[in-house]
Amino acid sequence: MDGTVVDRLVEANERYAAAFTDPGMDARPVLEVAVVACMDARIDLHAALGLELGDCHTVRNAGGVVTDDTIRSLAISQRALGTRSVVLIHHTGCGLESLSEDFRQELEREVGQRPTWAVEGFTDVDQDVRQSLRKVRTSPFLPHTDDVRGFVFDVRTGRLREIKAQ
Ligand SMILES: [Zn+2]
Repeated sequence: MDGTVVDRLVEANERYAAAFTDPGMDARPVLEVAVVACMDARIDLHAALGLELGDCHTVRNAGGVVTDDTIRSLAISQRALGTRSVVLIHHTGCGLESLSEDFRQELEREVGQRPTWAVEGFTDVDQDVRQSLRKVRTSPFLPHTDDVRGFVFDVRTGRLREIKAQ
């Protein structure tokens, strides 16, 4: 392959833009939904959920966990851009399952500075989805918390399994 991986992405964008037509949308998601999901490369959110361009907000991070920054994005999504539903997606085989807060200690030893963020590692993915559901449903910053649902995506079957809050 010639060039770096980013060169390859830029070339792909040339082709994308050549075929692109202005969809004429504004920034408000058509389906009024925000999806919070793990950054895992095996999850194609739009394909897995039948989403089209402009349908939803996607907020992704390591684990799909609900951090202060996730709440920040959801607050803007709901208050400024009209979304009303939230979908949380964690998944099987997540890299965070093998990480603990030891990761922070190791980082601190290595670089001489403790990160301000939690690793948010977990051992039970169902329990982690429940915790994320709770954080969204109890956030004082979110006006719409009546339609918040959580799922585990199976990276081998492509299927979602819903996790009910307890
Ligand atoms: Zn993951």
